[in-house]
Amino acid sequence: SSFQVHVGYVETLDARGTLVCFEDLTEREHAAQMRRDFVANVSHELRTPLTALMGFIETLQGPARHDQAAIDRFLGIMQSEAARMERLVRDLLSLSRVESEERVRPREEVNLGQVIGSVLHALRPLARDRACEITFEAPDGMIVRGNDDQLQQVFTNLIENAIKYGGTGNHITITLERIARDATLRAPAILARVRDQGPGIEPLHIPRLTERFYRVDTHRSREMGGTGLGLAIVKHIVNRHRGRLRISSTLGEGAEFSVILPQWDRQEA
Ligand code: ADP
Repeated sequence: SSFQVHVGYVETLDARGTLVCFEDLTEREHAAQMRRDFVANVSHELRTPLTALMGFIETLQGPARHDQAAIDRFLGIMQSEAARMERLVRDLLSLSRVESEERVRPREEVNLGQVIGSVLHALRPLARDRACEITFEAPDGMIVRGNDDQLQQVFTNLIENAIKYGGTGNHITITLERIARDATLRAPAILARVRDQGPGIEPLHIPRLTERFYRVDTHRSREMGGTGLGLAIVKHIVNRHRGRLRISSTLGEGAEFSVILPQWDRQEA
């Protein structure tokens, strides 16, 4: 570790002398390094589609100017590159919003069953495209304290991942259940599980999945329209709700992402 040393001369009524102060910089340096990495990553992620766009614009202005088939094809590619940039900016904004609000706990009464129901409704076309079957089971009254939009975002990201990475013909199971007293939260909780039957995730990757821009397979993530920020956003939102995210997987059998959230407690209202 590294230290910064501050030296000063002090004089009070009954004493005077030199004051030496050691400040541990390890933590600060680590945070600064993380910030630099993040900026480098963001720049790289933005530059990739931008370079492609500039290249196609040049081609359209020059060699392909009168080739209608090429124009149509290039415009299609440009549209998807622009869409990638849009998703990245959207995810960066979500991430920065949840990070800056991390200390404030959201307080609305949120029905998790309804949240997941509406996420499933929105994701139906994607699931259909990938011939993916989804089963959702939930008892009534799965109420937590939180922010509706943010919890929608959590389950959108988790279920979208299960669809994207699960492979075609994948079967996804989503369940909600009540836990009388969760050992770590030390409170009654609600456990939400999203399980897929895809290829799963190697154990060495699991602890790093919630890092920004960490992907097991960058090419595959890009192909699927991923930004590499989805699980980082999930982790921050879950933390903000004083909940926990757990990831487990058996290679070849699938992955399970579970979210434990403190149950709505009327007394806290
Ligand atoms: P991305 O935008 O790449 O999907 P995420 O943060 O949502 O970013 O996920 C990070 C990485 O975790 C993905 O690139 C993928 O490699 C892996 N991953 C996430 N969910 C699953 C899943 N259900 N099965 C297998 N791998 C997954």
